Amino acid sequence: MILTDPDSGTPVKVGKILCIGRNYALHAAEMNDAVPTHPVIFLKPPTSLIKTGDCVILPQMSTDVHHEVELVVMIGQGGKNIPLEQSLNHVAAYALGLDMTARDIQSDAKAKGNPWSVAKGFDTFAPLGPLVPSSQITDPQTIMLSLTVNDQVKQQGSTSDMIFSVPYLISYCSKIFTLEKGDLLYTGTPEGVGPVTQGDQLKATSDQLATLEVTVN
Ligand code: MG
Repeated sequence: MILTDPDSGTPVKVGKILCIGRNYALHAAEMNDAVPTHPVIFLKPPTSLIKTGDCVILPQMSTDVHHEVELVVMIGQGGKNIPLEQSLNHVAAYALGLDMTARDIQSDAKAKGNPWSVAKGFDTFAPLGPLVPSSQITDPQTIMLSLTVNDQVKQQGSTSDMIFSVPYLISYCSKIFTLEKGDLLYTGTPEGVGPVTQGDQLKATSDQLATLEVTVN
């Protein structure tokens, strides 16, 4: 997918989609997972991306697809082994995102010690809201996130409750993966995840980010 850099207006090709699991203590608790001592990292393929106004397609393989509202970071300047104090200089933009998850497939994978790629990687499983330039966000740890399903509030949280902060995650991930312009980082979800069904209207809102709306199909 090609995005538009909100500062320069130039096209940006999406690269890796890095995602963080269990980055809010109350969500780890609702999943009966331990609070991690290191970031839990998984990836989604770029083919999972959709934009606001698009549809999430429920896969036939799953009967339990969940919403997870998250802060998403888009990398501007790439880098390797990025020092913590330099991390935010590598952010081009922020957005709301949904880390759609086939919970039944994920639970089975967890039980068997298998990867989460299928549970997390279906087409349309990475809705991404409009990009807000990083220059407009003073501190990414002060952002309120909310998700409604058919106008009912299901998730409400603050990025101040992240276990691993945005700068820490960028620095940590860059020790493993060379970060490149157009890479996305989904930073984990607060508590309140739950199932979606056909026809649901999902609306992610924030005090500082642009609204993301998708329909479940
Ligand atoms: Mg997630």
